[in-house]
Amino acid sequence: MKQQIKLDYTIPEGSLKPYFEALACSKALASRCKACGRVAFPARIVCGVCNSDHVEWTALSGLATLVHRTDGVARSFALMKFAGADTLSTVALLNPTLSATTGRLQSPADGRSGLWVQLVEIAAGANHV
Ligand SMILES: [Zn+2]
Repeated sequence: MKQQIKLDYTIPEGSLKPYFEALACSKALASRCKACGRVAFPARIVCGVCNSDHVEWTALSGLATLVHRTDGVARSFALMKFAGADTLSTVALLNPTLSATTGRLQSPADGRSGLWVQLVEIAAGANHV
């Protein structure tokens, strides 16, 4: 049995507003802890290592390396490490038929929320991100 529900909701962005605004423009804006230097993407308002709330914004290139991927019937997801970040990110793949191990942050044209990555082939000898 399949049923559909429609739910209108708003999640207040609060201190993470710059992160979400950058994401909508396919730009990776990470948080950097001023106490320990950890760079988190997705951004956090409290450091996951030292619990400091003294964080600042730092722009990443948006390039990421695939750590692991899961392919489903309707959608594919991956665990990726964005260049410059100390954390891993769970993303949805925009072009899962490609078997590349690198990708770039890309917001879907239809406005879907979340982290999405467009897989890209990197030429031999230039496989660092
Ligand atoms: Zn910290």
